[in-house]
Amino acid sequence: MIIDGVLVAYGEIALKSTPVRRIFTQKLISNIRCGLKEEGIRAKISHKWSRIFVETTEIDKAINVLKRIFGIVYMSPYKYVTLNELEKFISESAEEILGDAKSFAVRVRRTGKHSFTSLDLERKLGSIIKEKTGLKVSLTNPEKTVFVEVRNSDCYLYTEKIPGSGGLPLGTAGKVVCLISGGIDSPVAAWLMMKRGCSIIPLFAYFPRGGDESDLKRFIEVIKILRKWHVGEEMPVYIFRHNQNLVAFRKTAPRYTCILCRRMMYRVANELAKKLGAKAVVTGENLAQVASQTLQNLSVIDKASELPVLRPLIGFDKEESIALAKQIGTYDASCMKVTTGCAPIKGCWARPSKPVTHAKEELVTKYESEIDLKGLLEESLKSLREISGTI
Ligand code: ATP
Ligand code: MG
Repeated sequence: MIIDGVLVAYGEIALKSTPVRRIFTQKLISNIRCGLKEEGIRAKISHKWSRIFVETTEIDKAINVLKRIFGIVYMSPYKYVTLNELEKFISESAEEILGDAKSFAVRVRRTGKHSFTSLDLERKLGSIIKEKTGLKVSLTNPEKTVFVEVRNSDCYLYTEKIPGSGGLPLGTAGKVVCLISGGIDSPVAAWLMMKRGCSIIPLFAYFPRGGDESDLKRFIEVIKILRKWHVGEEMPVYIFRHNQNLVAFRKTAPRYTCILCRRMMYRVANELAKKLGAKAVVTGENLAQVASQTLQNLSVIDKASELPVLRPLIGFDKEESIALAKQIGTYDASCMKVTTGCAPIKGCWARPSKPVTHAKEELVTKYESEIDLKGLLEESLKSLREISGTI
C-alpha cells in the first residue's frame, strides 16, 4: 500500500483557548517545517481538523525528525482515499493492511454531514474486512486496529500510532539559561524544559586543570545531541572561565567551596539571562543526590539568584534520570571520561573532602565579603564567550 504521508496529532495544545491554540499550532508547524528542511526532506504540510498532515515520500526519515519535535503526541503513516472510494479500497487492500494479525478492530472518527454514524461505518468496514480475510473482530484487544478519519469527503487510513515526545512546541514558553555540566543530570533537566516549550541557552562553567579540556569536550558532545532536539529556534551556547573563582573559594572557605561555586554560577547565569531576555535559570540539581544538594544548601545557594531557579529533576531518582538520558541520547556522551570539573568518575579538583551539608547563610555572607566577589564576577563575565559557531 502506498503511504501518502504522516498524520501528526497534538494533544495539550488542543485544550488551549483559540488565540493561544493558533499561536502554538503555527509554531508547531514552523518547527516541523524547519526540522524537515534541516534533513533535506521534501514535504507539503497542511493543517486541518486539528491534525497536521505531512505529505512526503520519505516517510521513515520524516518520522525520525517528528519524534524530536515537542508538541506531537503521536504520528501515523496514512493512506488518503476519498469517501466514495473507501469501501472499495478497504475491500481490495484488506489482506495487505491486516498483514499477519490474527484479530482486528475498526475505529472511525468522523466530522462533516453524513447519512451514517461512525458506528455504522465501523460495522460496515469491519464486515468487509472479515469477509475478505476471515479474521476475527476483537473490540477489546485487537492485534491490529484500522483507524479511519473521515473528514467530509476525505478519508485518512492508518494502523499505527507512533508515540511522539509530547510537551509543547519549542519556543512557545520563553527562554531559560541552563547550567549544563555535561554530566548525566543537567542535560536531562534542559531537555525537560525544552519539552515544556522553552528555548534554552546552555551555560558551562569551564575550569580546566593543567590544559586538560576533557570537561569542555564532554559538554560539547552533549550539546550536539541536545541541539538535535532544539528544532525551530536558535540555541546560543556560552562558556565562562571558573578557575579563578574556585581557587579563591578554596583558599577562603574550603568546606564551603561547592556552595560558593554554585552561587557564582547562578550569578553569571543571571547576568547572561538579563542580557538575552531569559526568565529563569535551570539546573540539574536534585534533592540529596550529592552532598551539596541538601534542602538547606539549596536554600542558601538559591539566594544568589534574582531569577527563579528551576530544578526539573528535584524529585527524580538517579535511575529515572539515567533512563531519560538514554532515551534523549545524551547518556553515552555524559559518561565520557573527564579529568576536571564535577565529574562522577574522578571528582572535581576543587571539591573539599568534606563539603558542608548544612550551609549557614551568615557564614556564606561572611566568606563572600572576605573575597573580592565583585571583581571575580566581573572577571567571570569578561571570560563569557559564545561558542555556538564552533559546535
Ligand atoms: P550533573 O549530572 O548535571 O553534573 P550532579 O547531580 O552531578 O549534576 P553537581 O555536579 O553537584 O550535581 O551539579 C549540580 C548542578 O550544577 C548541575 O546539574 C548543573 O546544573 C550545575 N553545574 C555543575 N557543574 C557545572 C559546570 N561545570 N557548568 C555549568 N553548570 C554546572
Ligand atoms: Mg555533576
